[in-house]
Amino acid sequence: MFVPLPGKPDPNGLELAILDFWSREDIFAQLRAKNADGPRFSFIDGPVTANKTLGVHTAWGRTLKDVFQRYKALRGYHQRYQNGFDCQGLWIEVGVEKELGLNSKKEIEEYGLANFARKCRAIVEWSSADLIKGSVRLGQWMDWGRDYYTFADNNIQYIWKFLKVVHERGWLYSGHRATEWCPRCGTSISAHELVGSYVDREDPSLTVRLPLLDRPGEALAIWTTTPWTLPANVAAAVRPTARYGRLDSGDWVAVDRGGGRLFTQTLAGADMVGWRYRGPFDDLAPGARVEHRVIPWDEVSMSEGTGIVHIAPGCGAEDFELGRARELSALMPVDESGRFYPEYGWLAGMRTTEAAEPIVRRLRDEGMLASAGTISHRFAECWRCHTPLIFRISDDWFISVAEIREPMREANRTVEWTPAYMGLRMDDWLVNMSDWNISRRRYYGLPLPFYPCGCGQLTVIGSRQELARRATSTLNGLQELRRPWIDDIRISCPSCGAEVERVQEVGDVWLDAGIVPFSTLGWENPAWVQGGLGDGAARGLTTADLPDHPYWEEWFPADWVSEMREQIRLWFYSQLFMSVALTGRAPYRRVLGYEKMHDEHGREMHGSWGNMITAEEAFQRMGADVMRWQYCMQPPNQNLLFGLSPGREIQRKLLTFWNSAAFFVQYANVAGFNPSLDHLEGAPPADHLLDRWLQARTALLITEATQAYEGYLTVDVLRAFESFTGDLSNWYIRRSRRRFWNGDTAALQSLWASLVQALRVISPVMPFLAEHLWQRLVVPVSVDAPRSVFLAGWPASMPPDERLLGDFADVWKVVELGRRARVQAQLKLRQPLRLLLVEGAERINGYLGEIADELRVKEVRIDRIETTRLQVRPNLPVVGRRLGKDVPLVRRALDAGEYTMREDGGVEVAGHVLGPDELLIERLEKEGWTIAADEGVTVAIDTALDDALRLEARVQDLIHKVNTMRRDAGLDISDRIFLTVPEADTDLLEHYDWISAETLARSITVGDALSLIKAT
Ligand SMILES: [Zn+2]
Ligand SMILES: [Zn+2]
Repeated sequence: MFVPLPGKPDPNGLELAILDFWSREDIFAQLRAKNADGPRFSFIDGPVTANKTLGVHTAWGRTLKDVFQRYKALRGYHQRYQNGFDCQGLWIEVGVEKELGLNSKKEIEEYGLANFARKCRAIVEWSSADLIKGSVRLGQWMDWGRDYYTFADNNIQYIWKFLKVVHERGWLYSGHRATEWCPRCGTSISAHELVGSYVDREDPSLTVRLPLLDRPGEALAIWTTTPWTLPANVAAAVRPTARYGRLDSGDWVAVDRGGGRLFTQTLAGADMVGWRYRGPFDDLAPGARVEHRVIPWDEVSMSEGTGIVHIAPGCGAEDFELGRARELSALMPVDESGRFYPEYGWLAGMRTTEAAEPIVRRLRDEGMLASAGTISHRFAECWRCHTPLIFRISDDWFISVAEIREPMREANRTVEWTPAYMGLRMDDWLVNMSDWNISRRRYYGLPLPFYPCGCGQLTVIGSRQELARRATSTLNGLQELRRPWIDDIRISCPSCGAEVERVQEVGDVWLDAGIVPFSTLGWENPAWVQGGLGDGAARGLTTADLPDHPYWEEWFPADWVSEMREQIRLWFYSQLFMSVALTGRAPYRRVLGYEKMHDEHGREMHGSWGNMITAEEAFQRMGADVMRWQYCMQPPNQNLLFGLSPGREIQRKLLTFWNSAAFFVQYANVAGFNPSLDHLEGAPPADHLLDRWLQARTALLITEATQAYEGYLTVDVLRAFESFTGDLSNWYIRRSRRRFWNGDTAALQSLWASLVQALRVISPVMPFLAEHLWQRLVVPVSVDAPRSVFLAGWPASMPPDERLLGDFADVWKVVELGRRARVQAQLKLRQPLRLLLVEGAERINGYLGEIADELRVKEVRIDRIETTRLQVRPNLPVVGRRLGKDVPLVRRALDAGEYTMREDGGVEVAGHVLGPDELLIERLEKEGWTIAADEGVTVAIDTALDDALRLEARVQDLIHKVNTMRRDAGLDISDRIFLTVPEADTDLLEHYDWISAETLARSITVGDALSLIKAT
């Protein structure tokens, strides 16, 4: 006996029970043991930032990772299952700042770096535990507890090693340049962090007059949207080849930017070079020190502003480069937090945004403001704290990309990207990438192991061991390779012996994640270290081993990695960079990328918008399987619109499969049927036509799903599954009801086998439902049955019987057309009919009985359909004028059928030849027939009814009514009844046997009204 299935599953309860079962029986450990000798499948997990609980966004990626690892496991692959956490950098720091209410770097330093570091670690500890809990609930199988943490000393040392290699190649340099800068975070922001950080913003738009010192009454007109940069002005640039003109007001602008105004004098830009002018803030000390002059610059834009450009090398990237080329001085007006330095007098201490208004007021007072307004434009903000970025000169550390660009592009070409356009995006990124700015002026991050000495020697330390060797003290107080502790260690310069300090900067967080294919797999590590990844800050968080080099050889490169598209310029990029630098090869063979997640209405999800769904809420309201289905149904090249209503839609779809399983259980129990496990794989060909079809249909599902998994396209897995469950329920089960009724063992075995194969196929996507049904449908069948669907391996795929499937495709087409014809004739489905004619679908020859039964017709015949006649008329708008007075003549001849059809579809009639486009041809039905046609197949139903057919329709109605009453009365499908029919239906008893067979009536009597009682 099978345990009956309820009308619909309770997802949350069912899933919690399965989690309990997996853990109780240690199914995952059994699976890994089973595959231990299998071929390797190397998946490397991109680390998730450990600063949050599991959200539905993160659950998407985790689902895809789990789906393909489960699939590969079913195919017998040996895998690592190592999960990773990203634990350093601004994400973590900003969270701690928020928690502690700290608002600047000064406040962090006052709080104390050691305390700050401990707080950061506490966030990682809390979040990683919570993410694991959420991921387990999602059904993700990983080697939990043996995760890698990027803040481990091991990881840090691997990055040091990489930096040392880069330095030895001469790629590492310290640059003095203007970079995008977040004044709140007090650090520069590198190019890959900028993409996608642009927002629309209103800014001031000022035209400023700079009086010319040697031309009284005249001035240069310049334009700016950043008033705070004016105190840093050192020059004004003109395009030498452009024409410039003096307006009535005495202001000089480019002729092209004069807006049609008249000029009293014009000159070439080249003639203006060298003019001296009064700077906008010469009353402040830094400005007063500069001699302001007009300089030439070919890049001056003639599409905005005045054609004369304000140059402040301390406040812009282009200005900085230009300043370098022309040896201009660079004034840097603001400090790390974006406040004016003391030497800027009345501006001192003001933020750049606060300074705008007083600056404008001052210019107006001085008569230097030609116009002031606002402009709306795209402006970059900090990706973490959303503060508008400024430009600032900073000394940063860079890795030059000149020598690695082409090798990286080469390596990228060896990678198979899904979807393919993401590979092109990567190439595009590589073509345009600038030198990698790897330094951040922050606290909780990879300490850059750079020790520059006054003698010119730069020492880059490659390991803790090397640090110990060069240090001027012991490393006893060095709890972790981290600030503040590491800042106390000094080394002696190998060149001159002087004591040298480490630079204060920490590293870009993408170094932390990019090194993972090396640091977690034991690259160049001479001996295996038990628990070796649990050192430094990771101590006590993980028991993961640091493997040895042969292990790295086995598992590198990854066969597959998967993350969101934005990781192209982040993790996919940084690990490609580090891998090509260290080995010359790509670190992954295949990538699955995917787009963004929005809510079900296409809006971004935000806590403050009230449209955010937490993973916990989703687990409770739809269940993990339905979430996973939503993620997997998503084509990877489109944004996912996630929500509760798509979830309900999926629950409805799932019910089709669930009902089919429940149907099986019900009838198998009535028949006392126990399936044979042997017949699951390689069952002998079935005898019954429909069973043979179901075998072929199931084989097709397995083939399609296998292809989809191999192509990393979950959406195709689900399409195949949905179409299969539809066919199973709407065709096989419905067509076979009578056989189930009769306890037909072959039908029950066929249905069981296909249900089980289907749940195996879908198990990577919906592990809970599949496991639950496996427990209900398979485990009770035999002691030999695998304890879990995940221990059962992948179903053997047999080539589907294409001929049979093709025949049935025609059968369905005919049935579909037959139904359509019935609707046209307004004949309900319970009304039996005499005859159906079919033309153009010869493959249905062996299945006429099936079709007759399905469409309730007495006979189906393949025949020429002459139940129609052609009506041919001239198309007058086209041919009317040509035929002229012959129109009535032609019409009469066509009506009378006095014409000859031509090969081209035209006709010869009444001495004229009419082409196909000159004719209107219609197929009109003959009296008593209804026609439906599509794609070369035509069916015709004989709509004539006689008394016998009408009586049968009433019998069908009665049977339908009685069976509804049986259900409403809560009768079991096998319960017998005593039936009473009203006197008006006495004539139906002509079909006594038919009625009693269909309603399980022991007897039928005539009485007052239709009623039934259960026979005991
Ligand atoms: Zn910031
Ligand atoms: Zn030195």
